[in-house]
Amino acid sequence: MQNTPIASRKQVAIYGNTNVGKSTLFNCIFEQNAAIVSEEKGTTTDPIIKAMELIPFGPIALIDTAGLKDDSILGKKRLKKTGEILNRTDFAIYVMDATEPDEKSYAKMAEQFQKRRIPHLLVLSKYRLAKESVLDRLQKTYPDALLMEAEERGSIAAIKKRLAEELSKLEEKEETILGDIVSAGENVVMVVPVDSEAPKGRLILPQVQLIRDALDHGIKCLVTRDTELKDALDSLTKVDLVVTDSQAFRKVDQIVPKEIPLTSFSILLARQKGDLKAYLEGIEAVSRLKDGSKILMAEACSHNVGHEDIGRVKIPNGLKKFTGKELTFDFVMSYDFPEEERLKEYDLVIHCGACMVNKKSVLSRIVLCEEANVPITNYGLILALFAGILDRATEKVRV
Ligand code: SF4
Repeated sequence: MQNTPIASRKQVAIYGNTNVGKSTLFNCIFEQNAAIVSEEKGTTTDPIIKAMELIPFGPIALIDTAGLKDDSILGKKRLKKTGEILNRTDFAIYVMDATEPDEKSYAKMAEQFQKRRIPHLLVLSKYRLAKESVLDRLQKTYPDALLMEAEERGSIAAIKKRLAEELSKLEEKEETILGDIVSAGENVVMVVPVDSEAPKGRLILPQVQLIRDALDHGIKCLVTRDTELKDALDSLTKVDLVVTDSQAFRKVDQIVPKEIPLTSFSILLARQKGDLKAYLEGIEAVSRLKDGSKILMAEACSHNVGHEDIGRVKIPNGLKKFTGKELTFDFVMSYDFPEEERLKEYDLVIHCGACMVNKKSVLSRIVLCEEANVPITNYGLILALFAGILDRATEKVRV
């Protein structure tokens, strides 16, 4: 669990106005002085992210964000970063100062949480200093709110307990990659080309995730290079699914008999991490592209050169060739993703497989695109379209 990457952990972010006790709560949950706690407004400039084990739930990334009502000079920059954190938050804790309750700010933020489907917990801080009548009214208005006092271990323990319970509910909803389309005991063949672009001596994360998911669900998997694929298929009496690297679609499509379903790692991840329906609708926008159309290529991590080649070179060139249009491309990486106004400039967003980030991050981007009325699709679907096998590559996964 200690080795769980930050992005694969549930992202728990603490929000609230400046000086309400967010960093105090962060420190109490983390039980170390990882964030600076100060009486000076706006001390937390950048979000602070710490990996921890939340017992009994498991690995989380705990995020301390900048204050929402920050009127200092750096306030705008801080708020932009807090907005980026919102896009990846799985669960939010909103801290409201019970001695000076700013319910308008809370209502505004609660609306954002609802819009992005982020469950949240309200914490009323400094409650022992609050007027009894005010606290009484707050507790009646927000019956689910938890009380917090830094020195009271019991109040912190109650917040941690509730947080673990809420996260466990989210975990139950987590979707499998393969387990709902292939049954236990069935055979999946995974095609991993080992060419100059493959990283030396290891598999990449989507391949590892798929193998693990197959093992978790009792699915037998055979991993092979494209060069041995035919032999591998011949060696099995029954093959229930072939999953390939999207870049080998054309070659693999020729080798795999038509009666065997075929898809790619990237399409399976698109289905598990995003919203395949939205991506499939998004791909229809390719036929509407014209000279001068603007495309945003979005990659969810600071990638290696191999990926750079797909996102920066292969897909842009392939799309120009496929459409016969003069297209322009912009590129964003990691958590950098434009807000609604800038998004509207684009005619299509093409997203990577998002193996390094959580489902929440991808869904937030899809919601942002929907609100900006910009179609979004993903690398795997585009590569299947180029190879002329979009229907075949998505048939098995449209469940
Ligand atoms: S997150 Fe995206 S860019 Fe990064 S390795 Fe995964 S698929 Fe590639």
